[in-house]
Amino acid sequence: MKVLSVTSEVYPFIKTGGLADVTGSLPKALKRFGIDSITLVPGYPVFFPMAAASAPLYEFDDILGERASIRLLQAHDLTLFILDIPALYNRPGTPYLDENGNDYPDNWKRFAALSLAAALIAAGELPGWTPDLVHTHDWQSALTSVYMRDMGCDRPVVLTIHNIAFQGQFAANLLPYLRLPPSAYDVGCMEYYRDISFLKGGLMTSDIVTTVSPTYAREILTPRFGMGMEGVLRVRRDSLKGILNGIDDDVWNPDTDEFLPQTYTVDNLDLKRHNRRKLVKRFELDDDGGPIFSVISRLTWQKGMDMLASATDFIAFAGAKLIICGKGDPGIERMLLDAAAKHPGRIAVSIGYSEELAHLIHGGSDAIIQPSRFEPCGLTQLYGLRYGSIPVVSRTGGLAETVIDANDAAMNAQVATGFQFHPVTTEGLCNALRRAMDAYANPKQWHQLQVQAMKARFSWERSAGQYAALFRGLLKQAATSYDVEMQQAG
Ligand code: ADP
Repeated sequence: MKVLSVTSEVYPFIKTGGLADVTGSLPKALKRFGIDSITLVPGYPVFFPMAAASAPLYEFDDILGERASIRLLQAHDLTLFILDIPALYNRPGTPYLDENGNDYPDNWKRFAALSLAAALIAAGELPGWTPDLVHTHDWQSALTSVYMRDMGCDRPVVLTIHNIAFQGQFAANLLPYLRLPPSAYDVGCMEYYRDISFLKGGLMTSDIVTTVSPTYAREILTPRFGMGMEGVLRVRRDSLKGILNGIDDDVWNPDTDEFLPQTYTVDNLDLKRHNRRKLVKRFELDDDGGPIFSVISRLTWQKGMDMLASATDFIAFAGAKLIICGKGDPGIERMLLDAAAKHPGRIAVSIGYSEELAHLIHGGSDAIIQPSRFEPCGLTQLYGLRYGSIPVVSRTGGLAETVIDANDAAMNAQVATGFQFHPVTTEGLCNALRRAMDAYANPKQWHQLQVQAMKARFSWERSAGQYAALFRGLLKQAATSYDVEMQQAG
């Protein structure tokens, strides 16, 4: 089976969050199920000169008024189609924001162009390669199925929601510039409170909608988590499915991790202390008895980072330490930097994005805090589990179903892997941190937790199998309806 995966980011080339981790690792996992994926991604500067080394595979005369070409890139076990439209993608900054942190004003065009190119490929425009199925991700590629249906292309499309908070909502008067007919501005397609929503268009026109955990699939049907899309999702309820994300064992494995000063396994966990020492030195932490809690996250309200800032006095005075590696809301960054200034040796903050530091922190910390208000799946807690850095998490979305709370029953049954809290408040967070500190003070108990955490397996095998079964089911269904149509035609 041939799958076209369409995405705005893909690890290890370009990443702002979990979406890139998933689009960078799922194709590799699907290969084991006989599925060959090619990933279509915008031609950001990072892809050149890599991609420029090969001649364009195909040229489009007019993608929303721009000349465009597709270049093939094979690297890191992935096959990519790079969509080269310099006027749209050859810019500094992140995939979505300029150097000052503002949304690019033409993001609607940048990601509509990505979706239109994907639809044309799905419809067979690229000589020699046409996918059997298209997999889109979040609002940035959600228009693909809208364009496909408009072109009369009925190949199956699966849309995965990685975070429903981002919906690609724009003014309705942009519709003609998208080259879509007025009928797309309909309550059954892109119309959304008198605006247009790329995500809604995708939700209404794809065959199946998945999201990245079964709990989040249920949560987004409610007003609290649906962010305005709950009504649309209820309409699509029978086609909505939760499939938990996996982690890439080649990238996140403490036994082989090249970023770690000291690799280790569950059988020689004591070696982790070398990484811990490195962290203590690097962040000039007090080298005393308390645990090192860490955070690797976007510093936003969604991630509960304002609550974390309110918990810093508690952490410092309780004798623990906290390392924060992240970037995000300037107000939250300020609060955390102030906390670090107030508690030198106890609280340390590194504002920025660093893959190397993220690995080192997982390798050296005692615990990873993730107090999200909502969390579609969450990958940081999965990395924490894999590295024996015990997750302390709010009970929501994917966090709820990947971390087993260390209550007495779960400890006795030897299945506990972390600490959960609910309600999601600063007080709830501090209670969970207190429980984690108490457990840390009992080395035997802590070791047991670490072993159980490291043995919990969240690699892609199981989840990729679920995607593969879903894809095959859709292809079978498409083939059956084709047969029926042929019979009816005579
Ligand atoms: P989200 O996609 O909502 O940001 P996830 O937990 O699904 O959250 O994925 C976050 C990914 O981004 C993880 O791979 C995490 O390690 C990474 N990440 C987040 N912040 C940073 C940072 N400051 N430096 C390095 N990696 C980070």
